[in-house]
Amino acid sequence: MMVTDLQHFVDLPADVPGPARSLADQLHAIIRAATAEKAGMAWETAIACKRRPGRQRCPGHIQVFRADLPAPIEWRCSSCADEGVISNWEGSYSDLRLPRGERAASQTDEVVISEEAFAALRDLQLLDADCERLVYRARATERGVVLRTDAGDLDELMGFVAAEANHESNPRRRRRLDAAFDALYEAFKAMDE
Ligand SMILES: [Zn+2]
Repeated sequence: MMVTDLQHFVDLPADVPGPARSLADQLHAIIRAATAEKAGMAWETAIACKRRPGRQRCPGHIQVFRADLPAPIEWRCSSCADEGVISNWEGSYSDLRLPRGERAASQTDEVVISEEAFAALRDLQLLDADCERLVYRARATERGVVLRTDAGDLDELMGFVAAEANHESNPRRRRRLDAAFDALYEAFKAMDE
């Protein structure tokens, strides 16, 4: 069981080694997911496990549980034995909990996207908190990655993807953003029908 204190993973220096950076990214993603969804239930996020048992990529996704009271976030892989708890996440820049007294709107539409499109959404730099919650509430399912949203929020997310694609000078990253935009747009059109 990996026990981590998030305070050791904020504001890492620029020259931090790759594995530490990668672990920090994974811990922050787990906190975003656990705080984007309501507390008190265990669920399977769309965040891929980063372990490579036997040099093969683990096919699992990270399951999370966050108690209603401030407590460490618990996580485990759906496939391998990787698991851990993260403490001191409250108030960090990855804490996506709604402000007190605000309730999440009920999002009834489901949009299924590929793991690649989800990875592109996770890499977006300019998202506002509502769109970040939309992305990190995504669940891994047998159909693919499922976003729960409504037409208004999806429209907003598409705006962020388009803006970032416009500013992206790296052709590979731009193609990835364009593909993610197309996937969201197809879903958006289907909602209207
Ligand atoms: Zn795993």
